[in-house]
Order: sequence, then C-alpha cells, then structure tokens
Amino acid sequence: MTGTQVIVGLEVHCQLDTHSKLFCGCSTDYRSDGPNTHVCPVCLGLPGSMPVLNKKAVEYAMRVAKALNCSVLHEAEFSRKNYFYPDLDKAYQITQYDKPLAKGGYIEIEADEGGAKRVQITRIHVEEDPGRLVHMGNAERGRYSLVDYNRAGIPLIEIVSEPDMRSPKEARKFLNKLRATLEYLGVFDSEKEGALRVDANISIKGSERVEVKNISSYKGVEKALTFEVTRQKNLLRRGQAVERGTRHFVEARGITQAARSKEQEHDYRYFPEPDLRPLYVQSWVAGIVLPELPDSRRERFMVQYGCSANHARTLTGDLRLANFYEQVVAPGQKELFSLAATWIADTLIGELNYRGMSLDAVDPKDFGALLELIRQNRITDKSGVEVLRVMLDAHQNRQHGETPAAIVARLNLTKTDGGEDGALAGTIREVIAQNARAVDDYRNGKNGALNFLVGQAMKKTRGRSDPHELNRLIVEALNNTGG
Ligand SMILES: [Zn+2]
Repeated sequence: MTGTQVIVGLEVHCQLDTHSKLFCGCSTDYRSDGPNTHVCPVCLGLPGSMPVLNKKAVEYAMRVAKALNCSVLHEAEFSRKNYFYPDLDKAYQITQYDKPLAKGGYIEIEADEGGAKRVQITRIHVEEDPGRLVHMGNAERGRYSLVDYNRAGIPLIEIVSEPDMRSPKEARKFLNKLRATLEYLGVFDSEKEGALRVDANISIKGSERVEVKNISSYKGVEKALTFEVTRQKNLLRRGQAVERGTRHFVEARGITQAARSKEQEHDYRYFPEPDLRPLYVQSWVAGIVLPELPDSRRERFMVQYGCSANHARTLTGDLRLANFYEQVVAPGQKELFSLAATWIADTLIGELNYRGMSLDAVDPKDFGALLELIRQNRITDKSGVEVLRVMLDAHQNRQHGETPAAIVARLNLTKTDGGEDGALAGTIREVIAQNARAVDDYRNGKNGALNFLVGQAMKKTRGRSDPHELNRLIVEALNNTGG
C-alpha cells in the first residue's frame, strides 16, 4: 500500500565502559553506591576546574567508528551545548557539534522483506552524560526531585542513523546489531542499567516527523515505535494531520505522550569548548585492530560447527551467548555441535527468559554435562528439560549446584530401556492388560487407540521413555499377542 510507508531514524546514546569518567578521574562504577559519591570539582562543574580528556574513551569511540565503517575526521572538536536544567551542573554539556569524531558508515541488518540491508550512519560523536534526577512524591503533593551527579561526566557516544529503517522491527534489529557490535568491541556493557538510551524519529511518508525522546530499553524502542505507527496512521485515516513535535514514551503504559511545547524550543548557543584542544586522531585509528565481529563470527559458526543460519544468527547475536556456546562445545565431540546449538538457541534461552534470569546462572561445564547425557541417550529430551529446570531453580534459590548426573540419579530419570531390565516390557504388558477396550479398538483399526496406549505407558514411566520407542514396542507386543 503506497502512502503508508513508515520511516524511522534513531539516535542512540551508549555509555562507554571505561574505568573513569570522560574529563576527570572519578570512577564510573557508581551504580551500587550512594548518590553523589563519585564526584569531584570537574564533574561537579565547580568554577576554575579544568577537564582532562580520557584517552581510553576516545580510543573506544574510534573502535566503534571503525567497526561501523565510518571515517574518522581529520579534525574533531568539543563544543559547549548551553542549557539550564538541574541534572546539568555546569549549565552546559561538553559534546561535539559541527566537528564530530566520525561520519558516514553503516550497519548491516536483515531487512523485513529478507536479504541484507544497510542502514547508513550519519555521524558518531563523543559527549558527557548529565547527572540523574530522581523524582519523588506524586503529582498531587509532595512533588520534588533529588539530583545525583554520579552519572555526570560518564563518557557517551551518540550514534545517529539515517532514516533508513522501514518498521519498528527493523529498528529493533538495528539496535540488536549495534549492541552486539559494541559488546564484541569490549566498549559497552548492555547489562548495566541505563547504559543505552534512544531517541527515535518516526514518520509516515508524506507527513510530519515525530521525535520520541529518551527511550531506555531495547524492547521500549520497538513498543514506542509500534504505538506511534498506529497513532499516526489512525490520524491520517481520519483525515487529520500528524503534528511535528516531541513526545515521551511512557514505558509502564506502552504509550507516547506529547511533550510540553516549551521543551521543544531550544537554542543551545553551541560554541567550541575553550578548555579542550581539537582532536587529531586520524593516524591513530589506522593502528586499531578490530576483534572478530558478529557477522564474521556468524559465518564461522556455520562453517566450523555446521550451525543453521538461524541458530548461528541467534547464538552470535549476543557476545555472552556466543562465548557460552563455544565453551560448551569446546571438549570437541562433533555430535555435540548441533545438539548444543538447538538446546542453547531454542531451549535454554526460552527457560532463562521465562524466569527473567541471565546466562550467568548456567555453568557451561554443567550444561555440557547435561547435553552429554542426552547425546549418550541416557535420558530423554523431556527429562533433559526437567534437569535443566532443576538446575535453574537451584541457582535461583542459591542452593549448592548439583551436577546433572546427580539430579538424574536423585529423580530417577535414567531412561528406561526395554532390553536391559525388562522394566519397559513389564509396563507395556500392564498397559495392555489394563486397557482391553483400547486394545480391541486398535485391533479394529480405530485411530487414536494406539496413541492412548502410548499415553498410558508414558504416564507409568513418568515421561522417562521415548514415545517413539514406546509406540514401536506396543505395536510389537500387540502383534505378538494373539492378533
Ligand atoms: Zn569527577
């Protein structure tokens, strides 16, 4: 349908994972400490204090520029962005304006219609994070705000994309790819609260553009954009116009709200930061050696481990997951490669997400041991899931880790096997004896009778047997007993 093409561009702010702040020696490891404990005259903006640029932060930003195929400019410059707000103690933010560190570049994503697609990067610049306001009380009474400057001066990079995305889903893919790339580069930790904030521009082709400010989660971006697409399409359908402007995403309600118009008019009076020299780092960037990035690791997973394209994409789309996979298969059995890919990409991720747990909860050695039990056919897939759940529960309850083999023994999950002890044969004899009617139905060719018998046998073995195996043994037993 023409006329409803969605156009999305993103501005992504990421905290660089350095040890100290951008212009002073204060530690960036502030999250578990009390408010205003990681501050000094520089990041408090006291008169007479002078900023000293953190070399590591510049190097990190250049790594990102190189990985995103950008060109680092001959001369970059810091500027002051002037505005008054309580989270900004100096009343200006040191950022980059008309001479950013890098321009151009792109990120490759999978397009909605299939195939690879390049989202162009406009620019990357370095700036300092403002402090953090904590709003207390509620709208009716006792409303006041506290300010915490621990975050003031944390190094940020802002990555601005061209409006090349065509759906909220493509925006999510762009962010996922960006996050993975930054983590592979070792410059960003996505698990730190507030480490990523996004401003999203969205419009329907031919209409005005709306900016949704300060979305603070990956899922939030897709939700906010999906809400906006519906809102804007509905306006147009009713013959109304989309107003150009700024909106806020209200995460708890999944909606966007118009910002007060006052918040939209800015004159930042940018001028070059007089306390910092321009940056000439072009020759430096040539010497930066990039590590393996998500795309090449994905291809390697397909070649080296025989992963399917989907599994390879899922596994390498997250640095921790990719490392976890390689730790699990490290002992080397080839049969483990595809088993591990399926179990990690499909089962483990689902179980972790369901519990809101992170991958840290699972020891790759234990997980590998569990897969070995499945590979050696000593437990069924179903029991494997049960063991995994016990392992995750134990971690959640901070109990001492039991090995998968010990869990299997304790819960008596060893696969019952007709040949060895005849237990299964006994079970099947019982099922046949106790369900004469179903047996008759089966002999009279009624569909479903066999499934019923298999189900009864599964119940008796408490899911420890392989249903295909049971099916085969029951058919065999019925054929042997007076047909
Ligand atoms: Zn400081």
